[in-house]
Amino acid sequence: MREKAPPRRKFMKGDLDEAIVGSEIIKEPTREERNAQRTRENDREKLASWVPKTDLGRKVKSGQVTNLNQIIDSNQKILEQQIVDKLINVKTDLLLMGQSKGKFGGGKRRAWRQTQRKKKEGNVATFSALAVIGDEDGHVGIGQGRAKETLPARDKAVRKAKLEVIRVRRGCASFDCSCDKLHTVPFVVEGKAGSVRITLIPAPQGTGLVAGNEVKKILKLAGIHDVYSKTFGKIRTTFNLAKATMDALEKTNRRLE
Ligand SMILES: [Zn+2]
Repeated sequence: MREKAPPRRKFMKGDLDEAIVGSEIIKEPTREERNAQRTRENDREKLASWVPKTDLGRKVKSGQVTNLNQIIDSNQKILEQQIVDKLINVKTDLLLMGQSKGKFGGGKRRAWRQTQRKKKEGNVATFSALAVIGDEDGHVGIGQGRAKETLPARDKAVRKAKLEVIRVRRGCASFDCSCDKLHTVPFVVEGKAGSVRITLIPAPQGTGLVAGNEVKKILKLAGIHDVYSKTFGKIRTTFNLAKATMDALEKTNRRLE
């Protein structure tokens, strides 16, 4: 009888890994990464060519003021967004405040709120956006912008959010957590805006953000990792929900009596 030929070895996934070990793998950046990179470069260039118009701006540019807390604690008004750009590592996000219009029933959540006013010539559309900025380390701000187009509305919103930046005190105050990291709110805080009420409650490490998506975005950029929350009122109104959240975060600066 003839001997059976040894079974041919299948090509396995691991073989490829072996082959590329040692040679450097250059991953193609995704479109998002490339865009982010480009924005970062643009921002850096803009910051370098910034000519401050206010006293505070000049002090920040010359390096006399190097800490954002200094500005916020002394109640100085920030009038130039570059001040914030220069002092903290700003990350931005858009809250979904609007809804899609027209076909397919509309109503899907969108970052742009589209409104119209009636003119003799027809309807004129205006877009507004709600931006949140923060450094994920105790600084956060929200702002609303309106413009005839979507992107200028976003830019205005981001600028306003930077000017309205607040400080958020964090701590570890949950009864079942005893680390000394700054990961949650230092005590129970309540915020309100319109009919919306929100309560933020300290949570132990690993809890995550127990809150709605839009509230989560704000808390994340503020640098809070764990929190429980409760909301009341018409939380569908993103604007009031965001404002109430900011109101609550602002109250972390108050000392317990
Ligand atoms: Zn803790």
